[in-house]
Parts: sequence; C-alpha cells; structure tokens
Amino acid sequence: MSRLTRAHCAARDAADPLAAWRGEFALPEGIIYLDGNSLGALPKATPARIAELVEREWGQDLITSWNKHGWIELPRRLGDKLARLIGAGPGEVVAADSTSVNLFKTLAAALSLNPDRPIILSERDNFPTDLYIAEGLMALLGKGHRLRLVEGDAVEAAIDSDTAVVMLTHVHYRTGAMHDMAAVTAAAQRAGALMLWDLAHSAGAVPVDLTAAGADFAVGCGYKYLNGGPGAPAFLWVAPRHQERFVQPLSGWLGHAAPFAFEAAYRPAPGIGRYVAGTPPVLSMAALEAGVDLLLGVSPAALREKSLGLTETFIAAIDQEAQGLGLSLLTPRDRARRGGQVSLRHEAGYPVMQALIARGVIGDFRAPDILRFGFAPLYTRFVDAWDAAAALVEVLRQRGWDRPEFHRRAAVT
Ligand SMILES: *Cc1c(COP(=O)(O)O)cnc(C)c1O
Repeated sequence: MSRLTRAHCAARDAADPLAAWRGEFALPEGIIYLDGNSLGALPKATPARIAELVEREWGQDLITSWNKHGWIELPRRLGDKLARLIGAGPGEVVAADSTSVNLFKTLAAALSLNPDRPIILSERDNFPTDLYIAEGLMALLGKGHRLRLVEGDAVEAAIDSDTAVVMLTHVHYRTGAMHDMAAVTAAAQRAGALMLWDLAHSAGAVPVDLTAAGADFAVGCGYKYLNGGPGAPAFLWVAPRHQERFVQPLSGWLGHAAPFAFEAAYRPAPGIGRYVAGTPPVLSMAALEAGVDLLLGVSPAALREKSLGLTETFIAAIDQEAQGLGLSLLTPRDRARRGGQVSLRHEAGYPVMQALIARGVIGDFRAPDILRFGFAPLYTRFVDAWDAAAALVEVLRQRGWDRPEFHRRAAVT
C-alpha cells in the first residue's frame, strides 16, 4: 500500500461530496473536534431558531403558541422526522425524555409482553445507564427478573427460551464495534425473545433500518450525532404491532387519549402517543429539530461512505505513524463491524487525551484506558483525521502528556 500523506487527505476533502455541510456548523477556529459522538456540534441555524422561539413565540404569542406554533405536536412531528433516519414509519417514533427514561418505558413494555420469561440479556460492558435502568426496573417489578450479561460476540449464542428481551447498544460506546442488527434481531425472535436496540451511537452516524430488521423496540439520543445540543431530548420507537399491546408505566397526562378532558383516570392515547409522559421541553425540542433537519438533507449511504473513509484514514495514519508508541486499536477494522468512532488503548489514556485537548484536538477518554475519537461525517474533514493522528503521535513521542495538570481528573472525562 502506498504511504498515506496529508496531501492525500486534502485531495479527498476536495473530492468529498459532503464537504459543503461543514459550513452549516459553527465550529471554532483552530479546533479539531472529534467528540461529536458525545456532544454534536452546533448547527448555524440553531441560535436563530431558538431566538425566534423565545422572542416571538414565547415572548409575543405566549400560551397561544401551544396551538399557533404547534408546540404540542413537537414530540410527534419530530418523531416522524427522526423515523426517517432509522428506517421507521410515521406515527412510530416520539421525541421525549432522556434515553435512560425511554429505556425504562420500552424495557417495561418488552418484559410485560413476554411475561413468562425471566431474563434480560445484554452485553457485559454495555453503556452503564442501560444496565442501571434494567436493575431499577427489575427491582420495582419484583417479579424475579434477572439481568444476564455476556461478551458482545457471545450474545446470539446466549439467547434461549428464558430470554424475555435482548437489550443491546447497536454501536458500542467504548469500542465502536457494531452489531449486525438484522442477524441479532432474527436470532432473538427465533428463540421467542423481543429485541430492544439502543441507537445512541447509530442515529445520524450509520444507516439504521429498524423495519427491515423487524426489531421490536428502539431508543436513541438527541445530543450526539443528531446535534440537538446539550441534554437534548431523546427518542423511542415501538414497532406498530406492539404499540397498543401495553400501557407504559410513566402514564402521564400527555400520553392520555384526551389530555384536555382532564379525566380522573388514565386512558392511553392510541398508538405511539402513549409513550409520551409529560410536557415536552419546547426549547430543547426546537434545537433538536434544527439538528435533525440537517441530517434529513443527506443521503445515508453518502454519510456512511464518508464516515468509513474518515475512520479508515485515521486508523491508517495511526498504523503508519504510531508504531511502538504503546497504542492498540480497539475498534474493528472490518467495515461491516465498525460504527463512526475509533477507540485506541493507551496505558496513560487519560493524560494523553488531556494533552491532546490542550493542543486543540478534542476527543474524550473512557475508563480505564481508552482514547475515543468520533468522526461525525457531516463536519469532519479527512485532514482532521490526519492532523489528529499527527498530534497524537507527537504527544506520545515527546511525552507531552506527562505533566501534573494533565493527570488531574475532571468530573466529565
Ligand atoms: C449517551 C448514551 C446514553 C445517554 O443516556 P442519557 O439518558 O441521555 O444520559 C444512553 N445509552 C447509551 C448507549 C449512550 O451512549
């Protein structure tokens, strides 16, 4: 293979059909931002949209805005837009709450639809909130459910006649490894289990087709690749065949069939509407909508091609330039198994990442020793992948990380 150079990367940027999308984001000068998998960048359209909402809709039209500006429709309207990013249909998705809360609602549904089976099957080092929510729900139900955790590549073999639901994150938050959604879903359903996917690191990063996979439930995150802003609302999807088979336990008034009838007893809304609990956070929803609108203008295949090109470029640069520097690749090299990030292990992972951030290359660190680099394909360039690899090599060669200030742990890593 020929040597990779920065000039090759610049040539790929010049030929990149998605290059112009970077101009839609307000990225600071001099920063290489490789953490869009944790907090997506700010779309340029968002501040104006929020200002309009605050000043005109809230400020001038006050409470009439719930009808006049469709605030009350936001969870469903945004849900229908999100559906297009994940292979779902209209009326199948709502934007609501946080990913954690949506996990609670969908997992409760799954357990109730498979009442004679005790096992929630998941991956040992799944994102902790997914496992914590399962623990909390099991304790609340008090029906003897158990959480069974296996390695990622052992999930399919572990599904059996005790498995009520298989709950997996499609793209792993630490390794960037991606499950085969259709194959795992089929294996779960062959054994009579339901399939719940967490799309936190998928939606907006890799093509997702829940309908083609025949999945049962999904949840996802608004502030990562969807660029919805810090603490953006999350979303959930329920396959139409299940929607009305269950009343989710957070039975709040906006999931009621007639909220403004103010009836004393709960009657669930038809369809996906019953998965809403309370009042939508309108400001946050508007920011999320601006992020989602951008992604709706991009071909998912082109997005995936660019994403794979970026991660491949970064891996190739590390392979070529960082031999003997103590790095090892955690992310699969196989394209079909890789999401939108690259994770590298290094025994001094934490201070190395702090030193990189101090140089303007922003990734993040996940305990115990993982350097995480997210390549959001809408606004990341091939030269960014090259420059980030070069900066990492320099930090390691010169031991620029070994300074007291880089060892000090912050609350958020
Ligand atoms: C980011 C992420 C979440 C976030 O959950 P919150 O409720 O928004 O804090 C959940 N699951 C996975 C797999 C994630 O990566």
